[in-house]
Amino acid sequence: MTASVLAYHGVEARPAEQDPNGIFTPPDVFEEQMAFLARRRNVVTLDELLRGTGRGRPSVAITFDDGFRSVLTEAAPILERFGFRATVFVPTAWIGKSNEWDAGGNAPIMSAEELVEARSRGIDVQSHGDAHVNLAQEGYDEAVRDLTKSSDRLEALLGERPRFVAYPWGASSDATTRAAEAVGFTAGFTINTKGGGAFARARVPVTPLDSGRLFALKTSGRYLELRWSAPVRAGYAVVRPAVRALFDRSRA
Ligand SMILES: [Zn+2]
Repeated sequence: MTASVLAYHGVEARPAEQDPNGIFTPPDVFEEQMAFLARRRNVVTLDELLRGTGRGRPSVAITFDDGFRSVLTEAAPILERFGFRATVFVPTAWIGKSNEWDAGGNAPIMSAEELVEARSRGIDVQSHGDAHVNLAQEGYDEAVRDLTKSSDRLEALLGERPRFVAYPWGASSDATTRAAEAVGFTAGFTINTKGGGAFARARVPVTPLDSGRLFALKTSGRYLELRWSAPVRAGYAVVRPAVRALFDRSRA
């Protein structure tokens, strides 16, 4: 059984027109999803998932890209209620600012103090690069420079270097993954690159549109195989939710 790494962004209620990229999950939907995980899945940390622990129910790790404040104010209390731990990937140049890399982006990103608080409440803080540039479109040297800056900044903030990086925009190239390894990360995560190997591990994007059935599929361990399979991509889906998954407006 393949374990799943879920990729969320913010957790807040927004009208669709204020969420063109589909990155904000309403708190009540998030709570329903966590209740489903508590009943039917084995929620683990990224470290546990990478060690391959867990038998029986499908394993799921919970991650959030961008370090939005709503992860602390909205998601953390729900996670605590279920006893779940999670990981947040923050773009270090944007700590205490907002997601201005998205057109019209106005969602606040946690401050340094808030990141420390998140960590104390069971949300591990890891790297989303520094400047939130698309590293898949940069060369090796620029990727090393950006990831080193991010790693240095997180070490200054938290007292230890990050182990994991989730590439901005969910995208990586061979140069990106080589850079992540050279900078000292032990694992790298994508969304929109199919990936493969320790430094390009594909995650499962969660969007505000995910129905109960689609969320069940996304956490089953079978979703990525369907998402990237040629027949499904060509529209020959046997499983209808997987077709919808092709139209995920997922971003990272
Ligand atoms: Zn991002």
